[in-house]
Amino acid sequence: MVDLKSNAVEELKGAIRGRVLQESDAGYDEARHIWNATIDRHPAVIVRCAGVADVRRAVCFARENDLLLAVRGGGHNIAGSAICDGGLVIDLQAMKSVRIDPLACRAYVEPGVTLGEFDHEAQAFGLATPLGINSTTGVAGLTLGGGFGWLSRKFGMSVDNLLAADVVTADGELVRADAAHADDLFWAIRGGGGNFGVVTMFEFGLHRVGPEVYGGLFVLPIEQAGDALRKYGAATDAMPDDLSVWTVMRLAPPLPFLPADVHGKPVIVFALCYTGPVEEGARATEIVRSFGTPCGEHLGPMPYEAWQKAFDPLLAPGARNYWKSHNFTDLPTGLIDAALDAIARLPSPQCEIFFGQVGGATCRVAPEATAYSSRDAKYVMNVHARWEDPNEDARCIEWARNYFEASAPFALGSVYVNFLTQEEGARVSEAYGPNYARLVAAKTRYDPDNLFRHNQNIKPSAV
Ligand SMILES: Cc1cc2nc3c(=O)[nH]c(=O)nc-3n(C[C@H](O)[C@H](O)[C@H](O)COP(=O)(O)OP(=O)(O)OC[C@H]3O[C@@H](n4cnc5c(N)ncnc54)[C@H](O)[C@@H]3O)c2cc1C
Repeated sequence: MVDLKSNAVEELKGAIRGRVLQESDAGYDEARHIWNATIDRHPAVIVRCAGVADVRRAVCFARENDLLLAVRGGGHNIAGSAICDGGLVIDLQAMKSVRIDPLACRAYVEPGVTLGEFDHEAQAFGLATPLGINSTTGVAGLTLGGGFGWLSRKFGMSVDNLLAADVVTADGELVRADAAHADDLFWAIRGGGGNFGVVTMFEFGLHRVGPEVYGGLFVLPIEQAGDALRKYGAATDAMPDDLSVWTVMRLAPPLPFLPADVHGKPVIVFALCYTGPVEEGARATEIVRSFGTPCGEHLGPMPYEAWQKAFDPLLAPGARNYWKSHNFTDLPTGLIDAALDAIARLPSPQCEIFFGQVGGATCRVAPEATAYSSRDAKYVMNVHARWEDPNEDARCIEWARNYFEASAPFALGSVYVNFLTQEEGARVSEAYGPNYARLVAAKTRYDPDNLFRHNQNIKPSAV
């Protein structure tokens, strides 16, 4: 535990509108836990900020007391960067305002907001912006790393829809970042993660979506997966931007539309979302039905907001998780064989391999337009090792690493920064490719002493 000057924390408590938690305080233990249960860290101080003034005060307190500083939005990051050992956590969960301007199609979003909370407010006006597929994820961390989900093929990455942000920088100042103000900072936060300061407000552009979309699940026995993946890979380029099809290989959950004898058996699931006119959904998604003979399917119109929550039960917080990720432009036979080999060796029932489909609008932006640079990626693969018992740690982690190695020869070499685990700091420059040098320049300007380093760190040039 760090040695804080006596009275320092008491003075901080007096200066904060939110709450300051230390180990002996009620609520501390809950506040230090995040989505990934393998992260078990004990900060010296957790500042649950109520507003921008608290954020500024907490940033200055960490800097002046030479404390390691972590920033928590939704607490979903697999690397556990939201929580540090010793040091100070800026906890933004209580900053929950979402203001929708339905006429201008704008959303003003505070950093403690989850995807589900954002969708709830925006869908009240039939509006949305691209976010991820699990409603309890934080808007803040997801957006700062790039952000993609069911709407990305149509409307791009989350960062492509970010119009402005308010950022508290390492000196405690509040900077407005948009195309006309601090444009280097605005460029850097659109993919560069939490390296440049604490974002206290995100302004997004919104689009008409739903309220109903056509979507659902199409499930095949694993024996058909090789053929289905080849057909899927061949179909991707011709798919309209309105259609997103992701695929996951895993043991079948006990879904009500699957026959009981399929439950627990290895399957390949195609999850699809069509955001064009709902009445055209059946025809527009027909291509997926050609991938094989299903053991179950559940397709039809449904509220967009409900689809955004469809995977929540499989991704609930509290399990142990370890991920490895690659980007791909296509799905060659060697990659498919490697995936099927890994599925034949699942170390634990909740482990899975998924390919999130991007492309469409995400590829029509120049790589240097935002810090997020993987504009050639058509699939973001993630091998999810997920288990409950700490005794399974080594086995599950080894499984994920083995498949990651086996699939590497087919990968682009870039990686989505939000899927990196804590020991993958060496891949940060790969995540940004040609944009890395410009990110270092922005980091050197806005955080020369690397106060914001408990993240996938971009080091300033002098450190
Ligand atoms: C179950 C699950 C599903 C996911 N699905 C998707 C998906 O569909 N699409 C996708 O793109 N990603 C997805 N992700 C990845 C997700 O984008 C990252 O985990 C992201 O970091 C989560 O943001 P958070 O705010 O919840 O996380 P946190 O762990 O709170 O934050 C992560 C890091 O972001 C930085 N940060 C957070 N808030 C701020 C802020 N206000 N200012 C400055 N820095 C900040 C900090 O460095 C922090 O450590 C998923 C993750 C999980 C666990």
